[in-house]
Order: sequence, then C-alpha cells, then structure tokens
Amino acid sequence: MAETAKILIIGSGPAGYTAGIYAGRANLSPVIYEGEQPGGQLTQTTEIENFPGYPQGVQGMQMMEEFREQCLRFGATIKNRTIVKVDFSKRPFLCVDERGEEILAESVIICTGASAKYLGLPDEEKYRGLGVSACATCDGFFYRKKDVAVVGGGDTACEEALYLSTLAKKVYMIVRKDYLRASKVMKKRVDERENIQILYNCNTVGLFGEDGVEGAKIVEYKGTPREQVFDIAIDGFFLAIGHRPNTEIFKDYIDLDAEGYIKVKGATTHTNVEGVFAAGDCADPRYRQAVSAAGTGCRAAMDAEKFLMENSGN
Ligand code: NDP
Repeated sequence: MAETAKILIIGSGPAGYTAGIYAGRANLSPVIYEGEQPGGQLTQTTEIENFPGYPQGVQGMQMMEEFREQCLRFGATIKNRTIVKVDFSKRPFLCVDERGEEILAESVIICTGASAKYLGLPDEEKYRGLGVSACATCDGFFYRKKDVAVVGGGDTACEEALYLSTLAKKVYMIVRKDYLRASKVMKKRVDERENIQILYNCNTVGLFGEDGVEGAKIVEYKGTPREQVFDIAIDGFFLAIGHRPNTEIFKDYIDLDAEGYIKVKGATTHTNVEGVFAAGDCADPRYRQAVSAAGTGCRAAMDAEKFLMENSGN
C-alpha cells in the first residue's frame, strides 16, 4: 500500500528544509524527498557570506547540514529519494519515486530548485566530465596551476572565476556583452584579480582536444564587420550562464511561465492546484537567494497548514 503524508515536500534546498522545519513544528510530520542533490545548489558553493546569522560566513555544505538537522529535530522524515512522476488531478496527490514507490499526500510543497544551463554546443556533451563543468567548487580542484575559462558575466560567473583564480594559473571570463551584469562588489573583485582576463564581446563556438578539453574556439564581435575567430588554450571550461527551474514533471498540472518557473498566486505560495504550493528557486526567476528561498519555504508551510486545517480538519 502507498505511504501517506499530510505534507510532502519535494526538494531539499533552503526552501524545502525551511518548509520542513515549519511543518514539523506545526506537528504535521512532513515527509521530505531530498532529490538528486540533497541540500540543493548551496552544497556546491564555497562560502556563503550573505545569509543572516553567520557574521563570519559559512560553508554551503555545512549550512545545509544544519538546516537538515533542524528539520529532523522537529519530526520531519527525510528520504534520500527523488520524485519522478506526479498526478495532481485529485487529492490525495499521488507522487512516485525513482524506484516506482508511491506516496499519497494531502498537500504538496514543490521546492525542486533550478539547475545550471549549458550553451547547447555538441562539444559540451562530448567533453562532459573531461574538462566541461558547471560547478567550479566541485571540479576546480582538478585545474590547479592550469588555465581555465568561465562563461558568463553574472554574479555566479564572477564567483566561479574568483574561486578558480585561487587554484588555476589563469582564468578567462568569456562574456558575450561589453560589460559584466554582476553586482559592483563582484566586478571590483574580478577586476582586481591579476590572473583573471575578461574577454568581452565573445562567444564560444566549439571546444577541442584529444582526450579532454585543450582549448576553446572563440568568436569576437559575432555577426559584425569586426568579427574575428581565435582559439584560447584551456584545460577546463566552466559554465555559469544561469539556471533552469526543475519543474518538468509538474508541467501537465501546474501553471508555469515561459521559462518554466512555477506561477504562484500573488504574494502567496499557492499554485493553480489547490493544496499544491511552490517555494524557492523553482518559483522565483528574480531573487534566487538562499535567504529568500528559505522565506518562501516558511510561507509555503504556513499556507499548507492553513489549507489542511480548512480541508481535512487537521
Ligand atoms: P544571471 O542571469 O545573472 O547571469 C547570467 C550570465 O550568463 C549573464 O552574463 C548572461 O549574459 C550570460 N549568458 C546567458 N546565456 C548565455 C549564453 N547562451 N551565452 C553566453 N552567455 C550567456 O545568472 P547568475 O547565475 O549569475 O545569477 C542569478 C541570480 O543569482 C542573480 O540575481 C545574481 O545576482 C544572484 N547571485 C548572487 C550571488 C551573491 O549575491 N553572492 C552569487 C550568485 C548569484 P547577458 O548579461 O548578456 O545576458
């Protein structure tokens, strides 16, 4: 027989765990399916300096372990499983994990976050794990004293470039515009780092190398009279061009925007399906911060609690 839950939380980043803490404290015995990356994106960053309560900063992995511990303290059940299929056509909602096991939930909070985007070049596939990565903190170690490139001009790209610059000999940033979109403080840090070189107005059109990445083919001023193609010699190619929300499995039931982010009603966490709520990056194309994700996780748990009170006498 399928397992049951009053509140099923899908995903385990700051939103999922915060929802778990609140639902647990409300005596609702939440069940959390951690997903493929327990702890979410923050487990792949280095130091977090802007989460309140950690004046000296904290490692992403450590912070997420502490969130998890706090969930367990209040009675959450945490499963190292991934929900791969849902049926939100009727309550209780049916969710199925990767082993085909089912869980029936009175309410669901979706906190599935977002995943790194790739450029879509065939060479990215060819060299995946052989020099192509979307996580500098996971893979940077392999590039000590080597030359690498980071694609993108946002805060993530700057953060990755700065991190890599402490390991690698040289870091190129490949930026398609003539400016960095990143915040002032990050731009300044990048500018001040001697071994980072920014290639503005540049796009990557291919990678090359025998057994792994040995270089990238770059086009400068693409599609203009000044267009020129050149190669850079690199051993590692890191993508930092933003993220895509992990919402594919919900698209038959839940209203999504053009980018795939879950639409919520006004300033709440309600989706178009009564009893299904969304929190964190999967529903936030704008702020995407750990602290704002945690905030929406809290709100989703409170919305779910109210929903259960009104709909099942809990
Ligand atoms: P952003 O969307 O801010 O930046 C993406 C970057 O990738 C842009 O420079 C964009 O170029 C470039 N890009 C996108 N698609 C392509 C492509 N196909 N080819 C080449 N370049 C491409 O994403 P981030 O992940 O950097 O940041 C997301 C959010 O998270 C932001 O709000 C950011 O401020 C925040 N953040 C905050 C941090 C902090 O506070 N410490 C750390 C990391 C992220 P273009 O500018 O031309 O569009």
